[in-house]
Amino acid sequence: MRILITEHPLISHKITALRDERTPSPTFRQLAEELVTLLAYEATRDIRVEPVTIQTPVAKTVGMQLSQPTPVVIPILRAGLGMLEGMTRLLPTSEVGFLGMVRNEETLEASTYADRIPGNLAGRQVFLLDPMLATGGTLISAIELMLQRGATKIVAITLLSAPEGIAAVENAFKNEEVDITIVTGALDEKLNEKGYIVPGLGDAGDRLFGVV
Ligand code: URA
Repeated sequence: MRILITEHPLISHKITALRDERTPSPTFRQLAEELVTLLAYEATRDIRVEPVTIQTPVAKTVGMQLSQPTPVVIPILRAGLGMLEGMTRLLPTSEVGFLGMVRNEETLEASTYADRIPGNLAGRQVFLLDPMLATGGTLISAIELMLQRGATKIVAITLLSAPEGIAAVENAFKNEEVDITIVTGALDEKLNEKGYIVPGLGDAGDRLFGVV
């Protein structure tokens, strides 16, 4: 498993604004989208491309285009929805699947309540979007589902990650033949007793969409 903690002054600046409890939802949403686009640049570094011959106004040349089948972008509801637009801005031809997962706040276990993911992910490049990698429970369940559907190459993009979550994902798939990359905007200090990332940014879903 590869972990990529993106280091860039713009990313740090935007993450600091996200963390700030005074940042209102509209600004938070805007920042989350901008951050994902920046992270997506790194996350798509190994995306498959193939040569294509085109004619410029001056000459014929060989360039590159995204290979078929197109990548699949899967936001994990609800908070991952706040990352979708920023990702599809960079990958407009990708297909979008939806995975609804909810974390039991007592056991911290994740369960699935919505599954609109292609039945066959063999040969597809899968990009999972979830802003917070906390205990790792949600991401582990999501990756397990991707593996059941035949995926072999998965990139997860998170805004913040806790060391405990990264270790849990690493441990869960250490014996699997799967290529997993986690691209994150920042590696935080730890989890607190409620499973929140410290210093974190609070509940990402609530900050994006309000408390409902
Ligand atoms: N989910 C969140 O939204 N925030 C955390 O800190 C942990 C999990």
